[in-house]
Amino acid sequence: MGNKIQYPKPKTRKHLNIRRLLAVLALFIGAGLLVIFTNLPSHAVIESSSISPSPHPLPPTLAQWQDNTNSGDYFSQVEKTQVGYLVWSQFPVKIYVDRPQTASNQQAQAWFSSVLETVQEWSAYLPLVVVEQPDMADITILRKAPPLQFSRDGNFPRARSAQATYELYTSNNVLSHRFTILLSPTQTGVFLKAASRHELGHALGIWGHSDLPTDALYFSQVRNPPPISPRDVNTLKRVYEQPTTLGWSVNKFLYKFSKYWTDKLKIVH
Ligand SMILES: [Zn+2]
Repeated sequence: MGNKIQYPKPKTRKHLNIRRLLAVLALFIGAGLLVIFTNLPSHAVIESSSISPSPHPLPPTLAQWQDNTNSGDYFSQVEKTQVGYLVWSQFPVKIYVDRPQTASNQQAQAWFSSVLETVQEWSAYLPLVVVEQPDMADITILRKAPPLQFSRDGNFPRARSAQATYELYTSNNVLSHRFTILLSPTQTGVFLKAASRHELGHALGIWGHSDLPTDALYFSQVRNPPPISPRDVNTLKRVYEQPTTLGWSVNKFLYKFSKYWTDKLKIVH
C-alpha cells in the first residue's frame, strides 16, 4: 500500500463565505448581547425609609397651562419608575445639542437647527436652556444612530432612528437623573423633528406613549407628524403634579443605578 499524501485543502470560495457568515453572525450576537445587557433593569437598592416621594411645585409655565379644548390626556400610559415620575425640579433644564464640528458640514448644521427648533417648541411648557458643554447638561442630544435592537419575536436586529435612555445619580446627596437622546444622522426634515420632539417629550417626563397619532408621543411614526398637542401638555402637567423621589435629598443611597430602560419606539418603517 502506498503512502497517502495529505495535501492541504485549498481554501475554496465556499469556505471563505462561511467564514464571512460566521463573522457577521458573531457581530450580530455581540451587538445583541450588548443591547440585552443594557436593557436589563439595574439593581438598585434604596432604603425606603430614607426617601419618601413628594411632588415638587409646578413650574409657572405648566401651572398656567389651561386646555380650552378639553382634549384629555394619556397619563395612564406613563410609567412610574422605581424612583417615581421622571420630573425635573431644577429649572431651567439644561440641554446640550451635538454641535457640528465644521461650519461646512451642511447636513450636521441642518440637523442641529431642526433639533434646536424642537427644544424651542417644548420651552413653551417647561423652562429649558441650551448649554455649550455636554458635561453640564441634564439632557444630551447626540447625532448618532441608536444601537441595533433585537425584536421580541425574532432574532433580527431592528434599525431605529431614535432612542432615549436615562440614568440616575446622586449629587450633593440629592437623587438626580440625566437623559441621553440619540437621533440618527440620516434622518432629516419633518421626520427628524418628529423624532426629536418625541424623544424630548420622554426626557422631559412623559415616560410612556400615546395611542393617538395626533400626539407627539404616539408610539409610531406617522406620515404627517403632529406638533405638541394639548393632550401631550395635559399629560406633562399631570406628570409634574405627581410625587417623586427625584430632586429630593437622600440620607443613604446605596448602589448603583445605570442605564435603565431603552425607549421602545420604532420610528423607521
Ligand atoms: Zn417613544
